[in-house]
Amino acid sequence: MSINIKDLDPHEMNDWCPGCGDNGILSALKNTIINLDIDPHDVVVVSGIGCSSKLPNFINTNGVHTLHGRPIPFAEGIKLSNPNLTVIIDSGDGDTFGIGAGHFISAGRRNIDVKLFVHDDGVYSLTKGQASPTLPEDRKVKGIPAPNINSAINPLQLALFSGYTFIARTTSYNLKEQVAMMSKAIKHKGLAMIDILQGCPTYNSEFTSPQWFNMHTKPLPDTFDPIVKDPTDRKEINAKKKAAMEMIMQDDDEHLQTGIYFQWENPDTFESRLESRHIPSPISQKIADEEGKSTVDISKILDSLVV
Ligand code: SF4
Repeated sequence: MSINIKDLDPHEMNDWCPGCGDNGILSALKNTIINLDIDPHDVVVVSGIGCSSKLPNFINTNGVHTLHGRPIPFAEGIKLSNPNLTVIIDSGDGDTFGIGAGHFISAGRRNIDVKLFVHDDGVYSLTKGQASPTLPEDRKVKGIPAPNINSAINPLQLALFSGYTFIARTTSYNLKEQVAMMSKAIKHKGLAMIDILQGCPTYNSEFTSPQWFNMHTKPLPDTFDPIVKDPTDRKEINAKKKAAMEMIMQDDDEHLQTGIYFQWENPDTFESRLESRHIPSPISQKIADEEGKSTVDISKILDSLVV
């Protein structure tokens, strides 16, 4: 099938501030879906709460705007119910690494084939710019009275230690890099995270402007190879993880690299584990007859409730 950008435009206009990096991420996602020629009916975009989490309302695919910090388990449930769908999580840094941090870590243990695109602007922008878990220590932004007293979570480190099998960083104003990276993440068989450094000109104008990103980010060296060639070779996997960690440690608050840090086409996905235990997905099970009447036998459940 052939789709164009208009097919992905809903009737609703987005209400983000002028210059907001969320616009760039939305545009990149639309272009990625077009480039990969995915039927929008087969795409589900899941979000939590925050400025960025309004995104499912602004793209003409399936979408669920869920609870604060909960988009990951929603997305996992959708993917396991119907593995044919492309399931994408668009969520903010506060949502993902604050209230949702437990879900972020647990997802790494499962390696379900969902894609997490984090809109990372260092602030809780929907609630007027408080410091989020990714705001560096001592950094002063508009919504806090004094420089940040807490140190920051590094999303790439956390993803690597948690077991994510595709880990990357880009910026919201770099459309070309985002589209290339999102395309690879979607094609990746397993759990992927892209930390997208996102512009918030309203509450973090100094440290998330296009100029700041231009001055403080650079691509990973061409010589760096993040791809695990033999997905079952434990020695190679560990070597690539070590190399990724060393590359992450080269970054600091003022010098950040963009690109893919780690990519392991790990055949041991949660879906493959279910398959090996002969547990079928709900979509593959017959639940109604030709007349639409339920064929699900719930008698055992009812029997168990008898007192
Ligand atoms: Fe974007 Fe920041 Fe405005 Fe929210 S407050 S819409 S993140 S610019």
